[in-house]
Amino acid sequence: MDHPLPADPHSEIRNEVAKLCAHFPGEYWRKLDQVRAYPTEFVRALTEAGYLAALIPEEYGGAGLPLSAAAAILETIHAEGCNGAACHAQMYIMGTILRHGSPAQKTAYLPKIATGELRLQAFGVTEPTSGTDTTSLRTFARKEGDTYIVNGQKVWTSRAEHSDLMLLLARTTPREQAKSRTHGLSTFIVDMRAALGHGLTIRPIRTMMNHNSCELFFDNMEVPAANLVGEEGSGFRYILDGMNAERLLIAAESIGDAKWFIRKATDYAKERKVFGRPIGQNQGIAFPIARAYAQMRAAELMVHEGCHKFEAGLTPGEEANIAKLLGADASWAAAEACIQTHGGFGFAEEYDVERKFRETRLYQVAPISTNLILSYIAEHVLGLPRSY
Ligand SMILES: Cc1cc2nc3c(=O)[nH]c(=O)nc-3n(C[C@H](O)[C@H](O)[C@H](O)COP(=O)(O)OP(=O)(O)OC[C@H]3O[C@@H](n4cnc5c(N)ncnc54)[C@H](O)[C@@H]3O)c2cc1C
Repeated sequence: MDHPLPADPHSEIRNEVAKLCAHFPGEYWRKLDQVRAYPTEFVRALTEAGYLAALIPEEYGGAGLPLSAAAAILETIHAEGCNGAACHAQMYIMGTILRHGSPAQKTAYLPKIATGELRLQAFGVTEPTSGTDTTSLRTFARKEGDTYIVNGQKVWTSRAEHSDLMLLLARTTPREQAKSRTHGLSTFIVDMRAALGHGLTIRPIRTMMNHNSCELFFDNMEVPAANLVGEEGSGFRYILDGMNAERLLIAAESIGDAKWFIRKATDYAKERKVFGRPIGQNQGIAFPIARAYAQMRAAELMVHEGCHKFEAGLTPGEEANIAKLLGADASWAAAEACIQTHGGFGFAEEYDVERKFRETRLYQVAPISTNLILSYIAEHVLGLPRSY
């Protein structure tokens, strides 16, 4: 006997997001890609529809939706051929303010983030010298009276030119004086509008896809002490705290990409005839698409499992990391199958395959690389010795 599957609780959100995305077809993204421009109209439409405030509680003007709803939003954006990278950070960065910010910070920022009056899109963690080894970061915030004076440098701070606020991770206790490896780092809300030209310099980095990532230089940049989030020295813990949500949401985006590639490849494989028959009749074409589909479904289940745990107030470290790994692998496998299925046309800009191919490759590296996820599983799930 068939058991009816539970209905997708977010099917209405998916339909509405898909309708919004229909206003931003491949041509829109292609034009921006050519000049590496920011999708301002797309981000405005998402903001006005309230999607970027999905996770902000209703008392602060947001929709107060669960993480699985945010995952459905981002997945749909990607499955429809759009790209959430221009604005996804707002969804998870605000969690740090929500969970660890003071009542004054929450009241000052969250309602304005919810309406779109303030954009919190920049997340300054990675530095050129320390890379993945975050606790070795060198940007230093020295306290002088009511102000922190920040000196140092960040790299790959995405959307810095299109954000009003940045969540910054900086060292406040020299590493050799810190109680432990992870202590002595602090999190700040930086008002980038006030800081730009007053100690903050932003330099865009041109990348293989349209991502609006930047290098940031801090030269005696002043941040009011009131903008410290939570306790001084505990910032690394606050950042870690938000990472499960971030990984689940990024996994959802890669699942969306995988769905887009699979649909595009399947449609083309049915319609393109070579040697008098559809190319999809060749198992050499069909099997890689079928395999990518199976990988995508596995990743999808892990995202659901992770969101389920998160929403139950548990810590889905294992699920979030595995979801990110499986999602990134599924989207890459689907991208490979899609470009191969399209033959030469996969390389033509007008098919959008090559653009999405470049975009989806990022998930193997950012926001955390596949190797570091495997290290997490080896160490924290399997109990193997730490490798670094
Ligand atoms: C387009 C883009 C946008 C980004 N946006 C942001 C952002 O908004 N904010 C932000 O803070 N950062 C951002 N990042 C940075 C991103 O998180 C890092 O690039 C990523 O974490 C890897 O760090 P890294 O580039 O310094 O590589 P490295 O740390 O130098 O590592 C290089 C390679 O070595 C591997 N490696 C390193 N150590 C080990 C180990 N112990 N075991 C096995 N393998 C290892 C890594 O997996 C990687 O493949 C972005 C990056 C890109 C490319």
